[in-house]
Amino acid sequence: MTGPVYRRVVIKLSGEYFAGPNASGFDQSTIDRVAGDLIAARELGVEIAVVVGGGNLVRGVEVSSRGMSRPAGDTMGMLATVMNCLALEAAIERKGTPARTLTAHVMPQVSELFTRSAAHKYLAEGRIVLLGGGTGNPFFTTDTTAVLRAAEIGAQAVLKATNVDGVYSADPKKDPSAKRFDRLTHSEAIGGGYKVMDATAFALARETSLPIIVFSIAEPGSIGAILSGTGRGTIVAG
Ligand code: UDP
Repeated sequence: MTGPVYRRVVIKLSGEYFAGPNASGFDQSTIDRVAGDLIAARELGVEIAVVVGGGNLVRGVEVSSRGMSRPAGDTMGMLATVMNCLALEAAIERKGTPARTLTAHVMPQVSELFTRSAAHKYLAEGRIVLLGGGTGNPFFTTDTTAVLRAAEIGAQAVLKATNVDGVYSADPKKDPSAKRFDRLTHSEAIGGGYKVMDATAFALARETSLPIIVFSIAEPGSIGAILSGTGRGTIVAG
């Protein structure tokens, strides 16, 4: 049996996923299940950092369309990602694995500030590190955050969890003729305008030579399968 393909990865989990079958909010059984998957992946010997989205609670662009400024709306979105980190941290620790939330903003009563050295320290200790608050800046996304943090902490890949098993030419749930890709270059992903990740994230991954693996989190154990090289996903690289 071969070991895991990567030593350290960043996993991007959308906030939408935290809502489970609901349109918004927290679904505890879904959060508990992903906590278990992350722990199983960690037990393969891979250091795991998770960038958490906030779309189940607030998306800046949506709240700002109702009159608030975009930076204020995005700040609410970034705070939403911190709430999701706290929910996931609690779920992981309840299962007996240490986790640690690091955030992009100073909030000492809530979490520690993200620094590369703190991330290295906690990952080396075997904790699952949760990264909240996005980049700390409005007008960015947590997809871009995942690539940024992966480059900063020397991760070998970004695992982008979605609800489909890779990148498609169109939404396969709406268009049965959509073509699935096994592999794309960063430039092809940007040029194709595929909706799975924003172009800023792909451009930063191209600049930093980081592979992105797009896979479905719907199947229990899919994170571990991707890390072992047996899972199904689209590799965006090169
Ligand atoms: N956000 C931001 N800067 C960042 C990351 C996120 O302003 O660096 C805000 C933005 O308003 C976004 C919200 O946080 O809508 C939630 O993040 P995202 O939409 O990426 O979450 P997801 O769709 O993955 O749940």
